[in-house]
Amino acid sequence: MRRLLRCLLFAALPCIPLAASFNPAVAAADCRPAAIERLRAAAPDGFAIYQQTRDKKFFLGWIACGEPQFSLPTAVHESVHYITAETDAFPLIGGGQFARPHEVSAFFAPSLIAGKFKPNDFVTTYLRPGSASSAGDFLYLLDELNAYTHDLDTAIQLNRSRVATEQEAGEDHRDGLAALMAFVALYVERAQASEPATWRGLTQPRVARTITELWGRAERVMASSCGIPNFGTEDKTLIRQFCQVGPRAALQKITGRAPACPMACLNETPVAARDADMMPTGSVRPNPAASFAPFLSRGVRRGPSRPDQ
Ligand SMILES: [Zn+2]
Repeated sequence: MRRLLRCLLFAALPCIPLAASFNPAVAAADCRPAAIERLRAAAPDGFAIYQQTRDKKFFLGWIACGEPQFSLPTAVHESVHYITAETDAFPLIGGGQFARPHEVSAFFAPSLIAGKFKPNDFVTTYLRPGSASSAGDFLYLLDELNAYTHDLDTAIQLNRSRVATEQEAGEDHRDGLAALMAFVALYVERAQASEPATWRGLTQPRVARTITELWGRAERVMASSCGIPNFGTEDKTLIRQFCQVGPRAALQKITGRAPACPMACLNETPVAARDADMMPTGSVRPNPAASFAPFLSRGVRRGPSRPDQ
C-alpha cells in the first residue's frame, strides 16, 4: 500500500515536478539519469511512456531515489494518465492508442459496486465518492485499468532485470491491477444484471472494442506476473472475485471470448511466469491542442488524505 499512498500524496500537489527538487535524497544524489537508463534497458513499454510524456519534468518528478525501482512503476502510471488526458486516448501496452469512448461517462456510477468488495484502500480510493473520478465515471475506471496495466508491466520488467543483491521484497505491485480488473469485471456483471441502459452501451462496438483491448492487455500482464512471489498482498482475494462465473460470463459477452483466469497467481508456490504475448512498441501522436486541464481536474484526482497514512 506504500506505493498507493505515495501516489495520493503527490497527486494532491499541482506542482508535482517540484517535489523532486525538495527531496533531500534527490539533492544528495540525483538518481534520475540512472533510473531512466534502467527503464530504457529493462522496460521498453515503460520507457515508451517516458518518451511520450511531453513534459519530462512531470515524469521525473515521480522518481524517488531511495525507493525500490526508483518508483518508476508509479512514474509510468501517472504519466499514462498525463498522456491519456493530453491526447484524449489511452496509450496501450505494446504501442498504439485507443481514443477515449466518452459515451461511457453516461453509464451508471462505479461507486454502486463498492459494496461488493471487502473494504480496502483501492475500494476507498477508486469506488467511494470523494476521491478519484472513477467513483462517478466509468471512463476513469478504464483509465485506471490501463494505468495499472502499465504500472505492473514496468514493475515486472524491472524485477526481472534486477541484480541479485537488490531488495524488492514487500512490494505490492500486483494489487492495483488485480483491484482494477475486479472493479471492471464486477461493474460489467452488474450492468448485465440490472443496468439495461449501461449494458446496451457496453455492447456497442466502439465501447466493447475498447474494453476488449484494455482487458486483454491487463490479463496478459497479470498472467506474466504470476511467477514473481510476494508481489501483492491483496491480489488473491481480488483475482478470485473477477474469476467468478458471473463477472466472467458478462465479460465474455463484451469481449467475445471467455476471460482467462490467472490461476498461477493464486498458487501458494509460484510457477514460472508465462511470457507475455506483447506487440512491438509503437508510438502515439500527442494532440498539441488537447488541454492539460482535464488531467489535473479529473484524471488522477484522489483523496487528499488516507486513514492509514
Ligand atoms: Zn491512477
